[in-house]
Parts: sequence; structure tokens; C-alpha cells
Amino acid sequence: MSLVQKCIPYAYYASIADIDYKELRKQGIRALFFDLDNTIIGYDEIKLNDTHVTFLKALEKDFKILILSNTSYKRVSLALEDVDYPFIWHAKKPLKFGFKKAMNKLGVSKDEVIMIGDQLMTDVFGGHRSGINVILVKSVKRKSDRKITQFNRKIEKRVLKVIEKKYPDLYRERLKTYVDDHTL
Ligand SMILES: [Mg+2]
Repeated sequence: MSLVQKCIPYAYYASIADIDYKELRKQGIRALFFDLDNTIIGYDEIKLNDTHVTFLKALEKDFKILILSNTSYKRVSLALEDVDYPFIWHAKKPLKFGFKKAMNKLGVSKDEVIMIGDQLMTDVFGGHRSGINVILVKSVKRKSDRKITQFNRKIEKRVLKVIEKKYPDLYRERLKTYVDDHTL
């Protein structure tokens, strides 16, 4: 897989609530790694709200859940105060070590995991580098992106252009709506 191919997600959904979890279960997925910022909550939110908690609790029947985030211990632990999920902070996605640590923590192999996140350059690219499939979701609130993320988005834009040119079918199928959802 080329660098650009590694940035193409397995699927795109408008939010974590829209993902077809039943289908994932059927495919043998046993664990879900969620990115935190702009995947579950916006950068300007501090904690998971009741809707998030109820939603994730329902998923626990079928999956092990872990939060895999590039942000600080303080931010992740505070966000997850009311729930009891294992988490990795300062994961340094797209580096592989956070993904590895997460798989070890849950005792699952790469074929049993799906990463769910809102960024091509960290979540999608990092997951694929680690052999994990990735579902891309719409950012909760793109305007709340941090500085480093704004930088990543600039690279992401260029990568999207390359994907559109080199893999037009995959682009149309998995990324066009993602781009449209953030420009409309
Ligand atoms: Mg994010």
C-alpha cells in the first residue's frame, strides 16, 4: 500500500452514531478504538455528555472500547471521568506505538479492531500503518480544530486531491461526501 492509499478509509459516516456496528460485529470486529477530539466531542467541549455515555454504553454489549487520542492525559481523563474506558493519551498518531499499546491493552489482534476518527493524516494513515482498518467520520466541529490539526488539514487537502486523481472510484465512494460535508 502506498502512502496515499494508506489515507483512504474503509468507510465514511457522518457521525459515530451512523456507523453500521452490526455489520462490523459480523465481520469479526471485537474492539473499537475511538479518537476523542472532534470524533466524539469538539475541542471546545470538556466532557462526554449523557448522549455520548448512553451511546457508548450500548456498544459495550458487543465491543471492547478504547479511546486513542493524541491529546494530553489531563484532557482525556477529564473527558472520560464518568465512564470507565481504557485510554491512550499522547498517542502520537500516525506513529504506530499508540495503536500497538492499545491492542496489547485490550488483548486483541489488528484484524479484530476498527479505528474510528476524523482525520486522514493521524487516524486513517496511522491505523493503516498499523494494519488496522479505519472508519472516517465527520468532525464534530471543524472550527474548533487546534493549531496542529489545522496544519494537518492542509496536508490532508493535498492528499485528498491526489486520491481524487489517482483513485477516482474510491474517492467518490468513501471521500467525496467527507469533503462535501465540511465545505457545504
Ligand atoms: Mg480528532
